[in-house]
Amino acid sequence: MNELPFIDDPIHFHQELKRIAALRKHGKVKKDRIYRLTKEERKIIHAKTGGKCHVCGKDVLVDKFEADHVKSHSSGGTSLTDNFLPTCRTCNNYRWHYLPEEFQWILKLGIWARTQIANDTALGKQMSSTFIEREKIREARRRNPRNKG
Ligand SMILES: [Zn+2]
Repeated sequence: MNELPFIDDPIHFHQELKRIAALRKHGKVKKDRIYRLTKEERKIIHAKTGGKCHVCGKDVLVDKFEADHVKSHSSGGTSLTDNFLPTCRTCNNYRWHYLPEEFQWILKLGIWARTQIANDTALGKQMSSTFIEREKIREARRRNPRNKG
């Protein structure tokens, strides 16, 4: 899959997002991601990207990164080091279960939303305040609240 399709109708857009989500839900993408990698395997995987998250490019520590499956088990992936790439926690939590096309839409929408917020449009203000309220709820639910900063 290369470029996302051009969609000129909001109803069609809604249907397309639902269609892709249904593919994911009825596909064989599974949460089969709990592996015990050895220290040596972690070093090999970490070195593949020069210690960067393969999604966002942020530095990840060799003993902290999460291993992202390049190919899921259902599509023939293995548990060997050549089938893993390092990701940061945020990217791994948000990205892993989405299909590539779905993730591209999410990125595109996210960048658009970010621009609305940065440009302080009416919609941007609304998204920002709703998003922050949701974030406060999520943060309050965390077992290990992070340091404020
Ligand atoms: Zn990342």
